[in-house]
Amino acid sequence: MISTQAESLEMARTQLYIDGVWVDGQNGATLEVINPATEEPIATVAYGTGSDARHALEAAQRALPVWQKTNVYERAAKLKKIADLMRENVDYLATALTMEQGKPLAEAKGETMASAATFEWFAEEAKRAYGRTIPASANNKRLFTVRHPVGVCAAVSPWNFPLILQARKLAPALAVGCTTVSRPSSQTPLSLLRLFELMEQVELPAGSINLLMGPPAELMTEFMENRICRKISFTGSTEVGKELVRNSAQQMKRLSLELGGHAPVIIFPDVDVESVAKASVIGKFRNNGQVCICPTRFYAHKDIEKDYLEACVEETKKLVLGNGLDPDVNIGPMFENRALDKTDAIVQDATSKGAQCLTGGGRSNQFERGYYYEPTVLTSVSSDMSIMTEEPFAPVMPIMDYSDIDEVIAKANDTEFGLAAYVLTNDLSAAFKMAEGLEFGTIGINDTVPAAPQSPFGGLKESGIGRENSIEGMDVYLETKAVSLAIQE
Ligand code: NAD
Repeated sequence: MISTQAESLEMARTQLYIDGVWVDGQNGATLEVINPATEEPIATVAYGTGSDARHALEAAQRALPVWQKTNVYERAAKLKKIADLMRENVDYLATALTMEQGKPLAEAKGETMASAATFEWFAEEAKRAYGRTIPASANNKRLFTVRHPVGVCAAVSPWNFPLILQARKLAPALAVGCTTVSRPSSQTPLSLLRLFELMEQVELPAGSINLLMGPPAELMTEFMENRICRKISFTGSTEVGKELVRNSAQQMKRLSLELGGHAPVIIFPDVDVESVAKASVIGKFRNNGQVCICPTRFYAHKDIEKDYLEACVEETKKLVLGNGLDPDVNIGPMFENRALDKTDAIVQDATSKGAQCLTGGGRSNQFERGYYYEPTVLTSVSSDMSIMTEEPFAPVMPIMDYSDIDEVIAKANDTEFGLAAYVLTNDLSAAFKMAEGLEFGTIGINDTVPAAPQSPFGGLKESGIGRENSIEGMDVYLETKAVSLAIQE
């Protein structure tokens, strides 16, 4: 059980952070943040405007030469200190994360520690932002490259991973000498506000990091139209991502886009059914299925499909639904009421077209308040159901069978999304064939949690442009300048 004291959230900071100062938004507007477990307001935060975004960009522009000239080893030491502070304050950060977003506290702590690891990894990697020397075709020339930070970057992220999605942008950008303006989802700003409080302690130059809550389209218009902003790194839906691509043409604004997914899971007949069912259920219902790389379409080989289905239903029934602050809970509430409506619509569409619901299938009636949905397993699923074509973002597990490896690869690839795919097998040849044949940016083989700071993360096809994490995730904050030097022979 959770104590009632844990239900209230003391927030030291709730304002915008611009130019090294905590301020109200220009028009004094505020927004209540709601706990999805209780539907109660837990904090009131400042809600800025386009002109606040302009001030933040101007502050970031002023800070740029100072931060850029700060030696990379000094920048790295500050980022490493941020990582240390996050680890020391994991409970402080994770409690806010659970209360604003709904995920169980263990998952929130995991997200916090992974965010700290991201700051630490980029602190180290920026020291290796090497250029090249290039053999010239004339004896009197010397060719080499210089890596140059892109400049002021906007970091825009959604509500499902409020800390790590900002960490994946801020850590590489700051590490290579860019300055930043962060815009989290205004519905989940609390853990990031706490992180900014901690970041204040490392004394970055005023203006090098800024934080805004506010209306998404208005703030984005400022990022897009203001020439100070050289790059926008956006995580969110493919629909909004496409709009940003269209709008970026005017100034050739640099974009990194981490967008939606619809991940297939292919289960081979050689697996230990019980253990892969357990792993599948953990992967599927993590954060209620509200994960961009969430497994969303399960293809089990026909020889084991019946056993796999039964084992998944059994595992799903064991999951404990409730307030994420309760240590016994494995699934918290969904993020908002709209998500419950969308999940209902997906399930109803599937069952009306012949799917069978083996467990779950509706809103939970265990709770008086909160956005709870029963974890759901569906079978007899067909390709005309919306769950197979649209990104579900829901605690619903559709399981189908297949008999032929080429046929299942074709089915898995038959989507405009290309973010993540999963393969469960002990057959090395099959694993290679899948890694080579599947058109997805991340392929988890016997691994349903495949993201790591040192490994590239991003989408093929309409799931995005660019990569986060890893060397590639640092490169997108650097431009390459070629220098050609003619010498006297
Ligand atoms: P969304 O696109 O509606 O919103 C994402 C962010 O952009 C939010 O902060 C939102 O306030 C803002 N936004 C919304 N409309 C905007 C507009 N017109 N102009 C500018 N900004 C706007 O996405 P969502 O539903 O909040 O988030 C879920 C989506 O994010 C899913 O599609 C999920 O797959 C995707 N996602 C992708 C990754 C990844 O790394 N690829 C990670 C997490 C989530």
